[in-house]
Amino acid sequence: MVILFYDYRVIVAGDRYIWKVNAIARYLPDDSFFLLVEPSNQRVYALDLNSDISNSLSAECLSLRSVMFSDIGAESFIAGKANQILEWYRSHQYCGACGGSNLPGEGQRVMHCPTCQTQYFPRINPCAIVLITRGREVLLARSSRFRSGFFSCLAGFIEIGETAECTVHREIKEEVGILVDNVRYIKSQSWPFPSQLMLGFHADYVSGEIVLEPTELEEAAWFDIADLPSVPSAGISVAGELIQLYKEEIERIKA
Ligand SMILES: [Zn+2]
Repeated sequence: MVILFYDYRVIVAGDRYIWKVNAIARYLPDDSFFLLVEPSNQRVYALDLNSDISNSLSAECLSLRSVMFSDIGAESFIAGKANQILEWYRSHQYCGACGGSNLPGEGQRVMHCPTCQTQYFPRINPCAIVLITRGREVLLARSSRFRSGFFSCLAGFIEIGETAECTVHREIKEEVGILVDNVRYIKSQSWPFPSQLMLGFHADYVSGEIVLEPTELEEAAWFDIADLPSVPSAGISVAGELIQLYKEEIERIKA
């Protein structure tokens, strides 16, 4: 089975984006290099094409986001994983230490330099994302990158030398200027835009008024859990799930 990419987009026909290699082999270039995505008994590979074969397959090229955030497939996280592996492969063709050409490792997901023996493993970037609550209220923020009216939890990349909990405290202090405590880990999510591991936390408000960091955020405010603005859906992102979990917790307390 193979997921086909052309020009950073996924080739999709109706609701199908994982293809049987035998059925489409005649359309694939002879020198196709398949990258293993899922090593389960039903192996899934990713293939980056130099030419658009979507017409031959009666298919179309869709963005990764539109594949992942639609009803196209329950396994759409595989498309995200495939995209990250391709992105890593594309960006590690040459050795960063000596400039030589790298080669893919055999039996292991690694690119290695035969000249200086440096190895390059796929890299993920850890981020902390946090829902801050104050009684029935949650603190949500609007980034300038979001569409208008859309709010989410605060998030930031974990910096060198930091624990995830340090990142939570630092990001909150930098972005909205308040203090929190009782920072606890809830759950995580792989986020392939481009290659993050989102670690989801919950924190309790302690003190301070919201003071915005204007280069990061356009707006931040407290919202009653029963009267939220437009937020990410729980099925799509861990931010949406953190919000949903808190809403359920408050409803249980009320009941
Ligand atoms: Zn090298």
